[in-house]
Amino acid sequence: ESATLSRIGLAGLAVMGQNLALNIAEKGFPISVYNRTTSKVDETVDRAHKEGSLPLIGKYNPRDFVLSLQRPRSVIILVKAGVPVDQTIAALSDHLEPGDTIIDGGNEWYENTERRIQHVSEKGLLYLGMGVSGGEDGARNGPSLMPGGSYQAYSNIQDILSKVAAQVPNDGPCVTYIGEGGSGNFVKMVHNGIEYGDMQLISEAYDVLKHLGGLTNSELADIFAEWNRGELESFLIEITADIFKVKDEEDEGYLVDKILDKTGMKGTGKWTVQQAAELSVAAPTIAASLDCRYLSGLKEERESAASVLKEAGLSDEGGLVRSGVDKKRLIDDVRQALYASKICSYAQGMNLLRAKSNEKGWNLNLGELARIWKGGCIIRAVFLDRIKKAYKRNPNLASLIVDPEFAREMVQRQAAWRRVVGLAISAGISTPGMCASLAYFDTYRRARLPANLVQAQRDLFGAHTYERIDRPGAFHTEWTKLA
Ligand code: NAP
Repeated sequence: ESATLSRIGLAGLAVMGQNLALNIAEKGFPISVYNRTTSKVDETVDRAHKEGSLPLIGKYNPRDFVLSLQRPRSVIILVKAGVPVDQTIAALSDHLEPGDTIIDGGNEWYENTERRIQHVSEKGLLYLGMGVSGGEDGARNGPSLMPGGSYQAYSNIQDILSKVAAQVPNDGPCVTYIGEGGSGNFVKMVHNGIEYGDMQLISEAYDVLKHLGGLTNSELADIFAEWNRGELESFLIEITADIFKVKDEEDEGYLVDKILDKTGMKGTGKWTVQQAAELSVAAPTIAASLDCRYLSGLKEERESAASVLKEAGLSDEGGLVRSGVDKKRLIDDVRQALYASKICSYAQGMNLLRAKSNEKGWNLNLGELARIWKGGCIIRAVFLDRIKKAYKRNPNLASLIVDPEFAREMVQRQAAWRRVVGLAISAGISTPGMCASLAYFDTYRRARLPANLVQAQRDLFGAHTYERIDRPGAFHTEWTKLA
């Protein structure tokens, strides 16, 4: 009987589901597919024919779909996060049996996964919340996979996931068992938060090079392509180089210059910043990137602010194009500023993951997370290998900033970093991500901060007490009587 049954099923055949199903079939695993709107089932089966993979078994209702799978059954669902996931689980679980597994591959809030783990366990079902990164292309050709939840459920499909995931030469497939509960979704969420940070930092580098260095799009394309051959080598740098090459098909000029400066978002960056605040973890670079998305959304307000401030005497260019800027040196400085800022951003993301891991007992392996992000996902970068090695050297590393290698790299780049931020500030070009990273670095590395004054103020107005540097205990002073 099992010869005619599929090894795995996938429900939800939009962009992600369709591509992941084709990927699984191509790796030789018999797969059944299902979608609420059944025309997508035919569409997906046709695509498999055209792309020459193993044929997909299309099913038109949840029952036939579930019954077409080998036991214990594993069903991946890739539908819109939230209520659609609950509805899909309800439709499928009527036909599933104890020992079967549901795997949600969407960008789900981790607590929803924890609730569903609990809920389906009442029927004896296993559950994985699996982050899938890499967009359409990743799903089709090898994503980074972050499965968390039941270890048994993971073991049941480990062979499939290992083949389907992106493969990094000498470093294995981009998948690992993340941990229990909603850890897979949480890790994917922080991955997206880090992605926000990377994109913001790159956009600031572009802004500075364009407005202070006067670089054209074609020069920018060359610079980013060059950067992609060095320490910044990464998917986001590579696609940025490509973006600068694309001309507007409708009109003259480059497409990038015609795009409205208003960013979209779907919520994972916001969740990351909310979680950082909940856990008292400083994540200023990621928060700055989120704030910039909010500010970018206020297009009309910004336009009117520009005109009000112009009336008030601020010149439009704010001194933007600088004469006497050494272009070559600026380009080199921006590269270094970008790299150093990125280290700080990743330090924040990793520390957020560790804080959550401690709170939940997930036992996350940060070095292993860096490894599975080396391929497949949007933040894939050569740089992640250095992070992997840093945690290998010291799994208890307090921050990437104090890893000896990263520490050296930051010190080497700090002069360039300060020049870029200083130049941008004096020219009125906002670089919130680079500034946040630099301030994070300068705050973290200082043995003594002005927090003594904050403590004195708190004690003065609220009798909150303070500690002393020279002896133990909590102290309170009647400040106003002594002043
Ligand atoms: P999507 O646009 O988020 O969702 C569309 C799919 O959800 C369709 O199959 C649709 O079925 C189904 N659906 C919606 N409501 C439903 C309901 N009430 N009951 C049953 N099915 C329902 O699809 P996607 O872009 O492929 O993304 C899937 C998941 O992956 C999401 O969580 C997304 O955040 C995540 N993700 C996406 C990307 C990306 O690049 N797109 C990358 C990483 C992760 P019908 O055809 O019947 O409407």
